[in-house]
Amino acid sequence: MADTEDWKQRYRKEAREWEATDGLLRRVLGRLAIAAEGSSGELDAVLARMQRHARDHEDRALEADLKDLTTQVRRLDSSNRAAAAPEPAPAAVVAETGPSEKEYSEALIDALDVSAESGVALREFRRRLSSLEPEQCLAELAVQISSLLRQEPQTDGGVQEVLLTIIDEVSVAQPGVGAMDTLRETLQRDKDSDWHRVLERVVGEIRSLIQRISSEKQALEQLVQDVSAELGEISEVLVEERGNLDSGRDQALALHDIMHEGVQRIQQHIDTESDIEKLKAGVSHSLEGIRSGISDFVARDEARFAEAQARNEELQERIGRMESEAGELRKKLARNRDKLMHDTLTGVRSRLAYDETLAQEMSRYRRYHEAFSLAVLDIDHFKRVNDDYGHTAGDKALKLVAELMQGRIRESDFLFRTGGEEFVVLLPKTGISGARPLVEDIREAVGESGFHYESQPVPITLSAGLTQVRDDDTAETLFNRADDAMYRAKKGGRDRLVVLE
Ligand code: GH3
Ligand code: MG
Ligand code: MG
Repeated sequence: MADTEDWKQRYRKEAREWEATDGLLRRVLGRLAIAAEGSSGELDAVLARMQRHARDHEDRALEADLKDLTTQVRRLDSSNRAAAAPEPAPAAVVAETGPSEKEYSEALIDALDVSAESGVALREFRRRLSSLEPEQCLAELAVQISSLLRQEPQTDGGVQEVLLTIIDEVSVAQPGVGAMDTLRETLQRDKDSDWHRVLERVVGEIRSLIQRISSEKQALEQLVQDVSAELGEISEVLVEERGNLDSGRDQALALHDIMHEGVQRIQQHIDTESDIEKLKAGVSHSLEGIRSGISDFVARDEARFAEAQARNEELQERIGRMESEAGELRKKLARNRDKLMHDTLTGVRSRLAYDETLAQEMSRYRRYHEAFSLAVLDIDHFKRVNDDYGHTAGDKALKLVAELMQGRIRESDFLFRTGGEEFVVLLPKTGISGARPLVEDIREAVGESGFHYESQPVPITLSAGLTQVRDDDTAETLFNRADDAMYRAKKGGRDRLVVLE
């Protein structure tokens, strides 16, 4: 995520600037220790300028001042040292990087060395400085100075002036160091006060100031680490979520806004907030905003997913229901079709089945030219049966005739009830010669059935017409020829078979 990189860089830059300011402050303090020693008009002007720039946080101007100050100090320093033994120039003080406590101690020794001519002990101490731990330097220096000044008390007020300048600078650079105000008051009230005690306390305050600056630096570094880690985590979540963004474009845009706002707020905090605690609070508040935005997004995405899943399940269920309903319907249709294809009274195939089967046989014939035969069989004087014995007797007779016919045809043959007492027999792969004996057999069987109703014999005979398919036939012409043959049988005296080729 490019933004994360930007913020990391920003925090690093901020930390570097902080470090630079910190170094600058130390250098100013170091120089002041020397500067106050040799007061001159130019020096006073530089100091006044510096105080102003330090107060207004004009660090660049302050750096320029520092160079001027260094020049002034060097000038004074060299004139003060003209007669003295040549000492190495305070290189550390002039060095570009901020002085350590060691270097700061050297600077103070330089400052005090001139007024305390017999400060052999201090020169000894300067030589020992390199072997001391950096953090011991200031404390030991204070002890050295105290003991030195106890031997040779200072009364010319010069040291008090140096201390006041240091106190002022520290107060300007770091407001809120209460101990400095107390020290200043003590010094101003009583010029003869035990200034070496004051010096020790100034050194102590400066030490704690340096510690505070470095702990703030650490806190800032920690903050940078925390923020980088948080942004890193957020970036990971976003990468993870990127796969889902297409599914919720509006929500993704809303999330982007939240991210953008949060990052902007962080930038604002860094730009405007100098208090590390407030900066931390502001940054973590902004990060919290981003965090909650993301969890909101994730939650909404999950809700959307759950919703889609529920919808999907409901659809699946509905499809399942529809499938089983369709299955039921298919069964019902099959049952209905079965019903439609069969005659309910006799159980043989129906008129509808006859139409379908004959159409199939016709198309098969056109393709394979395998002859088949068709016979129409009609019960003779059936009206009389009904009239003489009743409708129930008629029905029974119909059933019997159907049974007799069905029992005499082959598995591959078809028997249809096409009208009230009219039947059709369709004989696939069978020509007239094969069909004739079969139809005759049926006719005779019916005639000899010996049907009785209520113990009374009921004579039943059939008239039949038989034909076989021709090349120019349609289903209709074929039937008509068979039907015509059957009527000829009726006309010929009934109970007989007529064949029409
Ligand atoms: P033909 O020898 O000329 O065929 O004389 P027919 O009496 O058989 O012919 P017709 O067409 O005059 O009469 C047919 C009769 O068949 C009329 C009707 O009462 C009877 N019939 C038709 N369907 C049924 C049925 O399902 N049950 C009963 N019991 N009788 C039926
Ligand atoms: Mg009849
Ligand atoms: Mg009839």
